[in-house]
Amino acid sequence: MKALIAVLAGDGIGTEVTTEAVRALEVIGTRFGHQFQFESALIGGAAIDAAGVPLPPQTLALAARADAVLLGAVGGPRWSDPNAPVRPEQGLLQLRKALGLFANLRPVVPHPATLAASPIKPEILRGVDIMVVRELTGGIYFGDKSRTATEAVDVCRYTLHEIERVVRLAAGLARARRRKLTSVDKANVLETSRLWRNTVDSIMPSEFPDVSFEHMLVDSAAMHLISRPRDFDVIVTENMFGDILTDEASMLAGSMGLLPSASLGADGRGGLFEPIHGSAPDIAGKGIANPYAALLSGALLLRYSLKLEAEALALEAAVARAIDAGVLPADLTASPASSRPATTRAVADAVVAAI
Ligand code: NAD
Repeated sequence: MKALIAVLAGDGIGTEVTTEAVRALEVIGTRFGHQFQFESALIGGAAIDAAGVPLPPQTLALAARADAVLLGAVGGPRWSDPNAPVRPEQGLLQLRKALGLFANLRPVVPHPATLAASPIKPEILRGVDIMVVRELTGGIYFGDKSRTATEAVDVCRYTLHEIERVVRLAAGLARARRRKLTSVDKANVLETSRLWRNTVDSIMPSEFPDVSFEHMLVDSAAMHLISRPRDFDVIVTENMFGDILTDEASMLAGSMGLLPSASLGADGRGGLFEPIHGSAPDIAGKGIANPYAALLSGALLLRYSLKLEAEALALEAAVARAIDAGVLPADLTASPASSRPATTRAVADAVVAAI
């Protein structure tokens, strides 16, 4: 297969971990006989410095013609003035919108060798394998906003179409897994949640009779994610609830440095793949960032945009072997003073060697 992969490394540790993900994808390409072409472009703070905007036209053009986009992270203290007219995060929002990416997938699968890194008890974590699907383009984050001296308003709006497409995508994922979908809402209070719930009720029995489904209120879901995470298979929820629940779910894995994400559009092509963490300015440039999330984002890119399942599994297996072998960066070693955390490069070396 020939594929063009846009590499938008971004800022801070984004550049460090993305370099390693590209290296691993190159090895996968060679091993499986594919021609992956990588083209880099600026986004975020680096793009503001070079071009005055966080998403220059050439970056958007590259992302639009690429088969998939691999992203690092954007942002940092240099560009964080809240009064600044342009901010790095705007580049990411503009990119997701321009590419029509409406579903954000975050698989949470704690690895047996890193259970100690999680604040949750190991017996609760064993066997956890959750896919959280967050709606990415609607809801209160994108509704009308207004503000006076004494009042502020954020409108939460969802259309039937926006709900249907993300529920169908999540149910399709559940069908290929353990065939259980949990739809999270706040239907006891919110009208948008009642439309969400009605839509799930009308889609699931007719289109996915082989997938069992349940509704769960978001407050209850927040509790059950911690008390009995093993019971979840695929969770689908609206934008703000997903934003909050995915960060909570990341704690099951122990570190943000372990969690990849995929943002997908209508046909799965041209998706955006990135670790869930940010640019980590506190450790940027030190060569100690955990690249596992970026490497696993590369695996999601292979699976969802390039439809290369065997290659995705090979990369995931290589990551698992490196973790099994005890190759752990600083964020995963319980006691850095007494152990020797692996550098970003050493972790990636171990993964590449295991492919
Ligand atoms: P962050 O995720 O960058 O860092 C939070 C903490 O986790 C830090 O202590 C950091 O050192 C650690 N950490 C994160 N990733 C790590 C990794 N791979 N290996 C080891 N340790 C890791 O979040 P933050 O500090 O709140 O934000 C920093 C900047 O990143 C901000 O400008 C923020 O806006 C931006 N940000 C960007 C994205 C994105 O690009 N998608 C997401 C979140 C935050």
